[in-house]
Amino acid sequence: MTTEHVNCLIIGSGPAGYTAAIYASRAGMKPVLYQGMQPGGQLTITNEVDNFPGYPEGVNGPQMMMDLEQQARRFGTDIRYGLVTAVDFTGPIHKAVVDDQLEISANVVIISTGASAKWLGLPSEMRLNGLGVSACAVCDGFFFRGKDVAIVGAGDTAAEEASYLANLCRKVYMIVRRDEMRASKFMQNRVKSLPNIEILWNSETEEVLGEEGVTGALIKNTVTGAQRVLDISGFFVAIGHKPNTEIFKPFVEMDETGYIITEKGSTRTSVPGVFACGDAQDNVYRQAITAAGTGCMAALDAERYLAMKEVEMHAEV
Ligand code: NDP
Repeated sequence: MTTEHVNCLIIGSGPAGYTAAIYASRAGMKPVLYQGMQPGGQLTITNEVDNFPGYPEGVNGPQMMMDLEQQARRFGTDIRYGLVTAVDFTGPIHKAVVDDQLEISANVVIISTGASAKWLGLPSEMRLNGLGVSACAVCDGFFFRGKDVAIVGAGDTAAEEASYLANLCRKVYMIVRRDEMRASKFMQNRVKSLPNIEILWNSETEEVLGEEGVTGALIKNTVTGAQRVLDISGFFVAIGHKPNTEIFKPFVEMDETGYIITEKGSTRTSVPGVFACGDAQDNVYRQAITAAGTGCMAALDAERYLAMKEVEMHAEV
């Protein structure tokens, strides 16, 4: 396996990774950034971003990520297409393997691998993914204008997306697995106030129906056992996200759901020289702007770490 040494390795290319890259390259840290499986991250499957400061008219998600990439390149970030498949943080120099082919050693590592949408795990859901099954109402709701759709979930995301869909679609079924919702009271009230949203309590999806596209969903009431077929054209899943942190698990401290734990007020992880930013360490805010903010923090923390190391080295001589 070929080996290469870099000063600063950034893993992941969402707003956190690119912001870390902009700051790190401007600080002369010569960062190398691996984009991962989904270059640009979750925002590349979003249409309009209306809440990122500085864009009074909103901005298209993929366009914003291309702008961030270009900005990072402008300051000299070495941006590479490739997936980090393994890491080893046991030694003083950190190691990562890219696409099972190249071993990289790095003085500092910034983790910005983000999070991915969770799925129900039904074979029919996977088969019809992209053919009417979606985990992003904002991205795909447009295709179901005037039609009937269903959305699974009862958190703030599901409530927000159900309201969004209610604006576009004729009818929205909200499939809730318990007899109450986890979403904030405000969001619950909003959902309940919209006449074209019907909440199906204590309900589970047994199967998404359709061959070439979604034509329905088979729903079961978990209290009565009664089954019902919903005639729908779109099936949205909004049951939370999973941080993309599996490869770091043996080395970096995490919470029970896999979010990397960082020291309060910093991006320092339990491993010296390894920093985490964005959704990989944030299960609360999960916004592009907060991800970008922590990306900036990670680059500054990494820069200070490298400066301290240098001071220590000179002191030892
Ligand atoms: P949550 O984890 O809060 O909610 C997930 C929902 O999906 C829960 O209602 C859960 O049900 C349900 N669920 C999970 N697995 C299944 C399954 N297999 N089948 C059916 N239902 C399932 O995720 P969110 O993405 O909604 O929110 C994450 C965080 O982001 C929260 O802290 C939220 O407050 C925040 N957020 C804030 C927003 C805002 O303030 N504007 C907007 C969006 C998110 P159950 O309740 O039974 O566990």
